[in-house]
Amino acid sequence: MDQIETLPRGSADDVVLSLVVPVYNEAEGLAAFFDRVVPIAESAARSYEVICVNDGSTDDSLAVLRAARAANPRIRIVDLARNFGKEVALTAGLEYAAGRAVVPLDADLQDPPELIPDMIAKWREGYDMVLAVRGDRSADSAFKRVTARMFYRVIGRVSEVPIPSDAGDFRLMDRRVVDALKRLPERTRFMKGLFAWLGFRQATVTYTRPARVAGSSKWRLWRLWNFALEGILSFTTLPLRVWTYFGLAIAAFSLGYILIIVVRTLVLGVQVPGYASLAVMILFFSGLNMIGLGVMGEYLGRVFVEVKQRPLYLVREEIGFEPVDRRDGPAEAVGRARR
Ligand code: UDP
Ligand code: MG
Repeated sequence: MDQIETLPRGSADDVVLSLVVPVYNEAEGLAAFFDRVVPIAESAARSYEVICVNDGSTDDSLAVLRAARAANPRIRIVDLARNFGKEVALTAGLEYAAGRAVVPLDADLQDPPELIPDMIAKWREGYDMVLAVRGDRSADSAFKRVTARMFYRVIGRVSEVPIPSDAGDFRLMDRRVVDALKRLPERTRFMKGLFAWLGFRQATVTYTRPARVAGSSKWRLWRLWNFALEGILSFTTLPLRVWTYFGLAIAAFSLGYILIIVVRTLVLGVQVPGYASLAVMILFFSGLNMIGLGVMGEYLGRVFVEVKQRPLYLVREEIGFEPVDRRDGPAEAVGRARR
């Protein structure tokens, strides 16, 4: 059975289940992770692989991964050149995954692997994507709950595709979905949105998200805010369009005001006072102008990042994969490091 020890990437016939695990400074928790995940994967699928993407960890994560691979050759390692962020690490892992069903999974056991058999059952029923939806967020802080709810409400309003609330990256994807996802080349990897954009036949399973087993979350407030902004800016152009309406409203208002000034000047003659209102208007409207420019700048910045066409990530070492061969089609060239 262990001819799957080294497999060409993307040979989907041989592996049924691929688990994709982004790893960033998770050394303390990895042993517990494999202890819990491996037996489940073993019993859930005829054959499986665990693809661990080391996202530039600065602790012993890579050594721990190598040790885990020495004990279980179904663990494969993609070592990225530096920290690229979870979304990119996940994208890299998905490109290496060969399974007919692929499940991204956090290394901190916050995505309970016990759900995987249920997901597989739904998948066998014919669903292409099985989302794990958080039924209960009691492990999160009140602040995180409130902001998460606000975020989902805003993005639900403005996004062009419906983005399911309370579903993270933890989901089962059919090979079809993974292949479709690989065709989305954007550098702004707002995964929730990308998954939603794909569509396909979706089912859900509900779970309660537990707290981390070890270490601490890498999400600080500022990153969370940027993440939310990223999501909104990459999934709607509404913030750009708003300015047209602002402009129209202000122009209409000004027209009325001009009439008032003209009539008043004709009737009452020239009046010198007006410094205060003038100052207020100049400040207010230059503020509005700057916000409008800022919004344009946000989008322009994203265009800038996209046109550079840099690879999404660079791989330092692939452990447990056959050398890249002729199978490497153009669709897979995106983001792959050439050596
Ligand atoms: N992660 C990563 N790169 C990063 C940050 C996080 O690969 O730059 C991984 C991390 O190791 C974990 C997963 O992404 O497996 C989720 O990270 P975290 O637990 O910090 O996020 P949270 O659960 O708080 O959303
Ligand atoms: Mg976590």
